[in-house]
Amino acid sequence: MKVLVPVKRVIDFNIKPRVKADGTGVETAGVKMSMNPFDEIAVEEAVRLKEKGIATEIVAVSIGVQQAQDTLRTALAMGADRAILVLTDVAVEPLGVAKVLKALVAKESPDLVILGKQAIDDDMNATGQMLAGLLGWSQGTFASKIEIADGRAVVTREIDGGLETVSLALPAIVTADLRLNEPRYASLPNIMKARKKPMETVAPGDLGVDVTPRLTTLSVAEPPTRKAGVKVESAADLVARLRNEAKVI
Ligand code: AMP
Repeated sequence: MKVLVPVKRVIDFNIKPRVKADGTGVETAGVKMSMNPFDEIAVEEAVRLKEKGIATEIVAVSIGVQQAQDTLRTALAMGADRAILVLTDVAVEPLGVAKVLKALVAKESPDLVILGKQAIDDDMNATGQMLAGLLGWSQGTFASKIEIADGRAVVTREIDGGLETVSLALPAIVTADLRLNEPRYASLPNIMKARKKPMETVAPGDLGVDVTPRLTTLSVAEPPTRKAGVKVESAADLVARLRNEAKVI
């Protein structure tokens, strides 16, 4: 069983993003970038499927700038077998990413595509669903458990207030939620080995896909700063403040 895992290079989750002075977006120059955390979970799941003898090959894919190679090397160090960089300077939107992935699916014929449930930079939460729509494949989104048996994927989904279990015919699309697993750290020997694993570079045009953005960002703004809290002396003080300052009672 071949597994395709799309991984996005995003601002590291430990970094507080800063809005550019002209409000056109978020500052990325000189900022630490890493693999989208949900994509690490997706890679981990694929590697576990390979360790169980279910997956035979894991192909990591990233659509982005040259430096996305580093993100792909991380996936290779975690256990992916080979990587494809779809090189573009355009900030590709979910529909563009889904079209690129559809073209790669036609080329690679994977049985399963495991994506992150969302990229933490733009919070779109759309690519997996769009890819399933474009391919006409079944989808199990927000997965907290995946079991493969008899040509089907049984996916436990995190839904509001509970869990839902769906059985999907393969090939299928799964998107990884936070509780699916805890991704491993790549060991030094595996980081060294990853350097020798194959990485192919293609352009969106080679795949016949036009990734020109369709959306225009009108403005990006920081959330309003919150005022520091105060410690009240007593319950009476609290009631007085709620009545006279907050005016909520
Ligand atoms: P989004 O729909 O943008 O929130 O992203 C959902 C998932 O789609 C991510 O977790 C990745 O698995 C995949 N994805 C989105 N953008 C890219 C990209 N540029 N390269 C590779 N994978 C991507």
